[in-house]
Amino acid sequence: MNTTINEYNNNFISHIIDHDLKKQKKMFFHTRFPPEPNGYLHIGHAKSICLNFELAKIYQGKCNLRFDDTNPIKENIKYINAIKYDITWLGYQKYQNIHYASEYFEIFYQYAKKLIKKGLAYVDELTKEEIHKYRGTLKKPGINSPYRNRSIEENITLFKKMKNGEFAEGKASLRAKINMNSACIIMRDPVLYRIIFCQHHQTKKKWCIYPMYDFAHCISDAIEKITHSLCTLEFQDNKNLYNWILKNINTPHRPKQYEFSRLNLEYSILSKRKLKILVEKKIVSGWDDPRMPTLSGMRRRGYTPSSIKEFCKNIGITKQNNLIELSMLEYSIRNELNKTAIRTMAILDPIKIYLYNLNENHEEVLIIPKHPYNDKLGTQKIFFTKILYIERNDFQEKYNNQYKKLKIGCEIRLRYAYIIKAEKIKKDKNENIIYIICSCNLKTLGKKPIDKKNPSVIHWISVKYSFPAQFRLYEPLFNIKSLDKKEDFLLNLNSQSLVTKKGFIEKNIAKKIHKKIIQNNIKLFFQFERIGYFCTDIDTLQRNYLIFNRTVSLRDTWNEKNKKIINN
Ligand code: ATP
Ligand code: MG
Repeated sequence: MNTTINEYNNNFISHIIDHDLKKQKKMFFHTRFPPEPNGYLHIGHAKSICLNFELAKIYQGKCNLRFDDTNPIKENIKYINAIKYDITWLGYQKYQNIHYASEYFEIFYQYAKKLIKKGLAYVDELTKEEIHKYRGTLKKPGINSPYRNRSIEENITLFKKMKNGEFAEGKASLRAKINMNSACIIMRDPVLYRIIFCQHHQTKKKWCIYPMYDFAHCISDAIEKITHSLCTLEFQDNKNLYNWILKNINTPHRPKQYEFSRLNLEYSILSKRKLKILVEKKIVSGWDDPRMPTLSGMRRRGYTPSSIKEFCKNIGITKQNNLIELSMLEYSIRNELNKTAIRTMAILDPIKIYLYNLNENHEEVLIIPKHPYNDKLGTQKIFFTKILYIERNDFQEKYNNQYKKLKIGCEIRLRYAYIIKAEKIKKDKNENIIYIICSCNLKTLGKKPIDKKNPSVIHWISVKYSFPAQFRLYEPLFNIKSLDKKEDFLLNLNSQSLVTKKGFIEKNIAKKIHKKIIQNNIKLFFQFERIGYFCTDIDTLQRNYLIFNRTVSLRDTWNEKNKKIINN
């Protein structure tokens, strides 16, 4: 066993496992991750994936990936492929055995018959709405269905008829016969099977009756010899049914269910059903829109498997439901990219400066580091010429004393280059700035500005050596923190969640990036100095300019901005 203490081997679940393994020395530890293939995986699923697969690693066991494919109406093979891809991307391929609940449809059917034969299940002909009404509430006991006391023989015959397609959809269901007065509503004769006439992606047209999640899940766990079946807290009540079914069908193996709190993340929706609405209503460009909390969206945004795993580890495993700060997620990728991303300059909102005291053909090559603290990343070449682009908001025509960037009559330092002084502004007849006329002090390469009061450094790009780029800046999709229980979440959309900017990056660097993207279809990561961490976007392949997604800002600006809004 792994001896280093971390979040995965020092939480309430690992303590239960340690205890179980002490008691049963021969136990082969086995978990599973059971997604329903009705959408793409999101960061909440990643919490569960990491927990299940990391525990399998620590306890030298296994974790199955099991598709809970019991509702063909909502499922699709494209979701199955996307889920497999995401889990492999996270790096858990090695620990995964792939199963489908649909592999066990025949076994489920036999176990259902076993329950009928024990007088513990019956075919009901109430409608879905009637079943719901008869179930009662927490304050009101349920009412027995008029079909509850059918004989075992009659139930066997009717269940066969259900299986043979002799009932129309919705006209019959199989229910467990437990207790309509149970304090636990789930135990009030839950439905075990329903009729669905729909082709299944795995079993095709073989079945028209499909088991409910609660029936299929516990039996699948038992068949696969899962030892610890880990799920989120909302399944706490379902545990009664889980244990009731396994006890009454008497499986040789008895898995145990344990619950932990689900991930809720600020400004985010973590529900496949709701995320699907965003896709269908075209509020986002797809499941992989970089604003989506899906693993495919986060991958496109620039999150790496290691940053997601680090986040999942840091949030910990407990039974307390809480709302995790978005800044914690952002920290995980910022911290990583700070060490690994190549630094370079980009201009998102350009304005020109004209260095009047340089020759028309002035051209200088500057060799600059790709990372100030990581020499191993090497150096890069940039060109310094007479006309440069700087960021529009790095110059102000009218300013107050606090303004520390470029202003008329003041000096500023150009990153990796010279000190310049703004002298005049050249405007067109509409009063738009064409360029800022500056002088350049060629004796100042690598020196500090003379004006100690204004030590600012700004970034720049040679106009002659610029290459067009689009920068996609993201903010959260929603403008309220807690969306967990909100059904009207579409009322809280953040209109600024995507802002695109047209700007430039250095031509030689751009060419290299372009070549790498086209030849190897890889994603490249950058810190654009003073702006943020960015990665290349797949859309670049179809354009003659580069497209970058802002993964995360340099600092926690979203939180700072919101604090300001709240304080004002
Ligand atoms: P969704 O509402 O997103 O569809 P779900 O629970 O219905 O979620 P499943 O595909 O059934 O989705 O989930 C597979 C596993 O992932 C389950 O064990 C579930 O408990 C876990 N899971 C889902 N959402 C979260 C979350 N937010 N935090 C932690 N685990 C989660
Ligand atoms: Mg589910």
